[in-house]
Amino acid sequence: MSYDPNNIFAKILRGEIPCKKAYEDDHTLAFHDIRPQAPIHILVIPKGPYVSWDDFSERAPDAEIAGFVRAVGKVARDAGLVAPGYRLLANVGAAGGQEVPHLHVHIFGGRGLGPMLAR
Ligand code: AMP
Repeated sequence: MSYDPNNIFAKILRGEIPCKKAYEDDHTLAFHDIRPQAPIHILVIPKGPYVSWDDFSERAPDAEIAGFVRAVGKVARDAGLVAPGYRLLANVGAAGGQEVPHLHVHIFGGRGLGPMLAR
C-alpha cells in the first residue's frame, strides 16, 4: 500500500489541522486522541511517511526507529503511566482495524484496561 499524503495525520503533521500536542521531537509527534477510549489516550506517530508498523519496521532508517521507540516510552513516562501501568497498541491493516493509514501507536492508561482483546 503506498502512502497517502492526504491522510488526517499527514495533515496534522503539516499543521493543516490542529491537534492537542503531548510531545514533539525531530522524528516524532504525539497528540491526544480526538475520541479517547481511556482517561489517557495518546497517539504517537513518526514524522516520516509510513503507512503502518509493517511499513515502518521494513523501511525506516535505524535512527528513526530508535527515536520513535524512545519517544513512545518518554510520552508514557511523562504522562505518569509507568507506575500504574499502561497499554500500547498499533493496529495494522484491515483485520487489525487500522483506520488512519499513517503509523500510530496508541498509549492507553488512567484506569484498569481489562482483557487484551474483545472476546
Ligand atoms: P486506528 O483505528 O488504529 O487507525 O486509530 C485511529 C485513531 O485516530 C482513532 O482512535 C481516532 O479517534 C483517532 N483520530 C482520528 N482523527 C483524529 C484527529 N484529528 N485527532 C486526533 N485523533 C484522531
